[in-house]
Amino acid sequence: MNKPGISVSLIPKLGLKMDSCCVVKFDNVELEEKDFFGTEGNGFVRVKKEFDLERFLIACSNYGCAYCAFEDAARYANKRVQFDLPISKTQLIQEKFAYMSVQLTNMKNMIYHTAWKADNGQMTPGDAAKCKLYCSKAAFDVVDNAMQVFGGQGITGEHRISRFWRDLRVDRVSGGSEEMQVLTLGREVLREYV
Ligand SMILES: Cc1cc2nc3c(=O)[nH]c(=O)nc-3n(C[C@H](O)[C@H](O)[C@H](O)COP(=O)(O)OP(=O)(O)OC[C@H]3O[C@@H](n4cnc5c(N)ncnc54)[C@H](O)[C@@H]3O)c2cc1C
Repeated sequence: MNKPGISVSLIPKLGLKMDSCCVVKFDNVELEEKDFFGTEGNGFVRVKKEFDLERFLIACSNYGCAYCAFEDAARYANKRVQFDLPISKTQLIQEKFAYMSVQLTNMKNMIYHTAWKADNGQMTPGDAAKCKLYCSKAAFDVVDNAMQVFGGQGITGEHRISRFWRDLRVDRVSGGSEEMQVLTLGREVLREYV
């Protein structure tokens, strides 16, 4: 990256601000043999090998974020009093927690199942795609509902629920968009019945 002709500029993004997304420009950069990774023309194949693990790990971090948001919101709902009652005593708030807990259980089970397959060398691209597809969307739903429980508190200031919301939204695109996970999974599922 120190070679003449390489320039890097930061791209601002919605969430995941602990790492940086950049435009990297190569202008007449001279490379040497030792700069090669792998073999020439093999870049995509190398990246593709990492896809499955990356997608599975995204699903795990999505679950972690969603679980934190759920716990933060549950504690808040029990404390926040409106119209003389903690908001956790209202049925519409309880309904949110019921659905959030179903989604969290589903995510956890899917993650354990996929982890077992990965440990036993059986994880397929479809398994990784399924895990990311479901967990990134379910986690976003959980965080979005948790944010709703916080009312204005979740939107204003620098509450960590708003950081979870921003971070999770990115994961429905990065690491392969939802649509790409659907295509990978759909093809694999149908191949089983040829
Ligand atoms: C924060 C962040 C980090 C990233 N990190 C990396 C990284 O480390 N390495 C890396 O290689 N990439 C990285 N990416 C790139 C990421 O993988 C792409 O943004 C993603 O694959 C979507 O590609 P695109 O942005 O070009 O959207 P487009 O390809 O323009 O797609 C736009 C929309 O159209 C849909 N679409 C496109 N083609 C089809 C189709 N054939 N059928 C159905 N729908 C379709 C997409 O799903 C999407 O919803 C990162 C992106 C972000 C936002």
